[in-house]
Formats: sequence, C-alpha cells, structure tokens
Amino acid sequence: MDGKTTITELKEEIRKFNAERDWDQFHSAKDLAIAISLEAAEVLEPFVYKSDAQSKDIMSGTKRQDIEDELADVLWAVLMFAERYDIDISDALRAKMKKSALKYPADKVRGSNKKYNEY
Ligand SMILES: [Mg+2]
Repeated sequence: MDGKTTITELKEEIRKFNAERDWDQFHSAKDLAIAISLEAAEVLEPFVYKSDAQSKDIMSGTKRQDIEDELADVLWAVLMFAERYDIDISDALRAKMKKSALKYPADKVRGSNKKYNEY
C-alpha cells in the first residue's frame, strides 16, 4: 500500500469484489450493521482473558496480524455500508468530528477522560 489510496478507490475495489460474487443480495443495512458489530467484536478476541500487562504486549506479538485483519474487516464493512447506501463517509466523519469538537472543547477536556456530561 502506498499510503495514498483514497476511500473512493477502496469503495470501488469492494464494489467490484462483491459484484463479481453477486453478494450485494446479502448486504442489507441490517446485514451490514451486524457485520460492523461482529467484526469490531473480533478485534477484541486476542485480548479476552488477558491481564492488562499481557494486553499491552499484544500489538508487538504474534496476534498483531490477527488484529490487523480484523481492523480491515471493520473498515471493509463500514465502506461496504457507505458504498451500498451512498454515504460519503469522509463527509460523515468530518461532520461527526465537528459535533465531537462542540461536545469536547479542547480547552476544557485536554488530558481528561471524562465524558461530556461529567465536566
Ligand atoms: Mg473478521
């Protein structure tokens, strides 16, 4: 990966991949929402039953590739949802970041892990 691949390019690759397999029939909003949640849960798997100390070492160990694969699955499912339902995910992310910036003004929350209703 050259680090310059755009979201539009990734969405097109995913669209082609699914079209070649006739898989869009399985990709309702419900299916894709479930897929996003399932794939996100798979990111957790290497951490289950591990101590805090063991968990800190996971990203430098043999499970790193598993986590990369699952993160890719999460992104894949998100981009599939965006592609299928014509959501500009870049615009959606920026809009959400603006909302978060209002909820969490940097001058009020810097260095704090409190939720917006706790400060
Ligand atoms: Mg997976």
